[in-house]
Amino acid sequence: MSGNTEEFAFQAEISQLMSLIINTFYSNKEIFLRELVSNASDALDKIRYESLTDPSKLDSGKDLFIRIIPDRANNILAIRDSGIGMTKADLVNNLGTIAKSGTKSFMDALSSGADISMIGQFGVGFYSAYLVADKVSLITKHNDDEQYIWESAAGGSFTITRDTVNPSLGRGTEIRLHMKEDQLEYLEEKRIKEIVKKHSEFISYPIQLVVEKEVEKEVSDHEGEEETEEKSEDAAKIEEVEDDEDKKEKKTKKVKELTTETEELNKTKPIWTRNPESITAEEYGSFYKALSNDWEDHLAVKHFSVEGQLEFCAVLFVPKRAPFDMFETKKKRNNIKLYVRRVFIMDDCEELIPEWLNFIKGVVDSEDLPLNISRETLQQNKILKVIRKNLVKKSIELFSEIAEDKDNFNKFYESFGKNIKLGIHEDTQNRAKLAEFLRYFSTKSGDEPTSLKDYVTRMPEKQKNIYYITGESKQVVENSPFLEVLKKKGFEVLYMVDPIDEYAVQQLKEYDGKKLMSVTKEGLELEEDDAEKAQREEEIKSFEPLCKSMKEILGDRVEKVTVSNRITDSPCVLVTGQFGWSANMERIMKAQALRDSSMSSYMASKKTMELNPGHPIIKALKSKLDADANDKTVKDLTYLLYETSMLTSGFSLDDPTAFASRIQSMIKLGLSIDEDDEPADAEVEDAPALEDTEESKMEEVD
Ligand code: ADP
Ligand code: MG
Repeated sequence: MSGNTEEFAFQAEISQLMSLIINTFYSNKEIFLRELVSNASDALDKIRYESLTDPSKLDSGKDLFIRIIPDRANNILAIRDSGIGMTKADLVNNLGTIAKSGTKSFMDALSSGADISMIGQFGVGFYSAYLVADKVSLITKHNDDEQYIWESAAGGSFTITRDTVNPSLGRGTEIRLHMKEDQLEYLEEKRIKEIVKKHSEFISYPIQLVVEKEVEKEVSDHEGEEETEEKSEDAAKIEEVEDDEDKKEKKTKKVKELTTETEELNKTKPIWTRNPESITAEEYGSFYKALSNDWEDHLAVKHFSVEGQLEFCAVLFVPKRAPFDMFETKKKRNNIKLYVRRVFIMDDCEELIPEWLNFIKGVVDSEDLPLNISRETLQQNKILKVIRKNLVKKSIELFSEIAEDKDNFNKFYESFGKNIKLGIHEDTQNRAKLAEFLRYFSTKSGDEPTSLKDYVTRMPEKQKNIYYITGESKQVVENSPFLEVLKKKGFEVLYMVDPIDEYAVQQLKEYDGKKLMSVTKEGLELEEDDAEKAQREEEIKSFEPLCKSMKEILGDRVEKVTVSNRITDSPCVLVTGQFGWSANMERIMKAQALRDSSMSSYMASKKTMELNPGHPIIKALKSKLDADANDKTVKDLTYLLYETSMLTSGFSLDDPTAFASRIQSMIKLGLSIDEDDEPADAEVEDAPALEDTEESKMEEVD
């Protein structure tokens, strides 16, 4: 090693990943080329983009290309690009010392059955070089730094050397793969062509293959002897041609010479510029895979162009699955590549598509945008706003097309249902259209989730609203006391058990002219008939004293205590204000650490306790109070009822110990244990509701 070589250790996970790549038995090794070509293409995109605002960046080489150079004599396959290159710091950071989140995710995915060819999706495609090479040397030159060589034969470490021997790259990167003994097929012209055609046909820079060609040359015998170089000497001897006439006049011969030529492998026109009718499903599939690094085909595609005062065309794809890191905040904001008149501009233009559509992959090619558009001017750009609007519209059309096939739609909804809900939350204009895609389990759905449209067709005539309940899971909500009366009346209730439902439904508010109504919140309208109303008024009157004293006992814990119209089997429930948080929302908010606590106290559920006037417990409580307005046992019972309904209504208890103490007192009562019998240290001391224990012993209850 020369003096300017530095050695670095691979970060542990990367090292582990490399061993996995080297040691796993895996036959589809050809994908390494796709990954390296894709990196070259990314690097070209970067320099191309920089040069739009600063053309001098291309002084180090105007030609943008990818070149594959097989060297059969030395068993080296080189992939060269004139892209942005890497500085020394880039080499250290990007190729070995800093693991991306994908490094571990990919290994986890592999151990649960994923395929190595998925590597590109996890952002560690570079290391696929070790599928075929036992040593990799990477020579690179960035405009802002000297030329460096990165080298590693795996084994936990790599070196970086300043290239003083032959610093002639100009700009870009050349990766030299020292091929394993049994991987020499990848040096063959035919094989390389086949792989490039299969995986990289739609790369938008020329992919050149350096091929060896034999050319025939006619030379006079005399000259021939002088010119023929060593390597073609044999060929010259064999190919000596004697032409009868020439023989007499001047002696000539044909020689075959071995020369190298570059051949361009991807001459196809960009797919989006072609007529959609001329494009096969396979072509879209391979374009999608090249664009997205996905290993399987897309779920659906939309290819369209817009003409008029503004002209652009686009191809949009919906993948089959969500990427492993879709909701990771640091992630690239979208997956649409922006081109201007066939020239790649950028692939993270925020203004192009809203965040909720960040799973859509594709390209947009505008005829109208200026080539040297900068990120700052993009924000106000009117053309871009129109394009964005169209992309949203076409995406929604595409979802409708997917919805025509139930299986496909289920797949789609499983992967991207959250995005649809996010869209409902954010996109006022398309909210109503997006609501058509929502699917929920419900009290009547059975095994297949229902759409809102189907829900509406099942509504009994007198039902005016659409009812829903939010909660942690289907299991939790399907037995909720809040469903009691609705079930009895035959009013279907939707189960909204995704945290994002809480947000989406707040914005959606109604569907098809019908109000969406939470069954756990105040103001529940249940279309009661006159008899029912009269009965309720009667109950409100007769239970007023009970409600009043229970409110006094519970103090600030509840806003008020009223008679309920929504329960038949439970004694009471706690409902929340129409515009405050539901119990479920309170749970979600509590789970999010570092929330602004002032917001919490403002939004935190204001609870109303609702009593079931038909329930024996409530009836008994009422008679107790009617008999003796100062009955002390009412107090303990009220606390117990409050705490149990906290639990059944989906809240968590602020003081579970006090609750447990009260329950234990009940147990003692059931077992006829005298309070005096118990050991001193087990005494109920800190149950706040039992301050005046002596007078309010449970024994006195019945
Ligand atoms: P990804 O391409 O998803 O970022 P890779 O493992 O394929 O992940 O590549 C890691 C990083 O190495 C790239 O992000 C890039 O910064 C750098 N890199 C790889 N190949 C090249 C190249 N040919 N030119 C410039 N940078 C490269
Ligand atoms: Mg890559």
